[in-house]
Amino acid sequence: MSQPDRYAVVGNPVKHSFSPEIHQSFAEELGESISYEKVEAPLGHFADKAEELMDEGYKGCNVTLPFKLDAYKFAERLTDRARSCGAVNTLVFGRKVTGDNTDGIGFVTDVRQRLGFQFEGSSILVLGAGGGVRGLLPSLLEMNPKWIAVANRTLERAQALAGVFGIDAVSYESTAAEHFDLVINATSTSLSNIAPPVPESVFREAALAYDLVYGAKPTPFMELAKRGGAGQVSDGLGMLIEQAAESYFDWRGVRPDTSRTYPKIRKLIEERAARA
Ligand code: NAP
Repeated sequence: MSQPDRYAVVGNPVKHSFSPEIHQSFAEELGESISYEKVEAPLGHFADKAEELMDEGYKGCNVTLPFKLDAYKFAERLTDRARSCGAVNTLVFGRKVTGDNTDGIGFVTDVRQRLGFQFEGSSILVLGAGGGVRGLLPSLLEMNPKWIAVANRTLERAQALAGVFGIDAVSYESTAAEHFDLVINATSTSLSNIAPPVPESVFREAALAYDLVYGAKPTPFMELAKRGGAGQVSDGLGMLIEQAAESYFDWRGVRPDTSRTYPKIRKLIEERAARA
């Protein structure tokens, strides 16, 4: 019998990743057989690890922190969206190595399909100016919103992004006076169990507040948004699952239905947190 196709997620650290469970769930739903592992690459040695995977016959890999820029450099061909983000989260090992970035489409799919938000004509506030925001902006712009503003603790970084993507950089304080339909937390504040320094009033007219970070409990940003009056709040698990589905499509040409995977992984996160 032939061996199942091999895939991996490469990061450092990577042991917290739910990608193996997500991809195995997709494969089960589709009646396919794959193998998917977590691979930790030493810092500064992403390319060596990727070469090793290719030599061992892997068909592709996901790439997580801190290697998305290394993967961008490693790819021999880039999809348009990877080129616009300047970062790669999916490598397809073929005759040439193709680099894609599925984070933005993952976000948009989750927000549109699971949460029912209409991007067209909306006003969007993005908090943060790191790699996560770069991954989101090209896909957000494609959805024809009325306005995208980005706020960041280090305002110069928001201004640099605004220059690249033709959007507006704003200070955290100035957001109180504006109207936003969607507020996205793409800072890493939730990992430190704090909320970003955004005024509570920014949520008063927001239909949705979305944190890219996910976990067993609502994040401090989600709690702040609820207090501020946001219509709906969500963490980033749906984005994680949808970006994985798009990677699966890149590798295997079939797009998994994510609706049964979402509750499975949510339950797994809760069980893991309860055991910790
Ligand atoms: P990053 O490049 O390290 O950027 C971190 C951002 O957070 C920066 O804008 C930083 O501001 C800001 N920040 C950190 N501490 C802060 C504080 N105390 N107050 C205000 N701002 C603060 O990280 P990233 O790659 O963009 O990722 C951001 C988050 O998104 C991460 O937590 C990551 O896990 C999550 N993420 C989730 C998914 C998903 O699939 N759900 C995908 C991608 C990323 P400065 O510029 O001022 O330092």
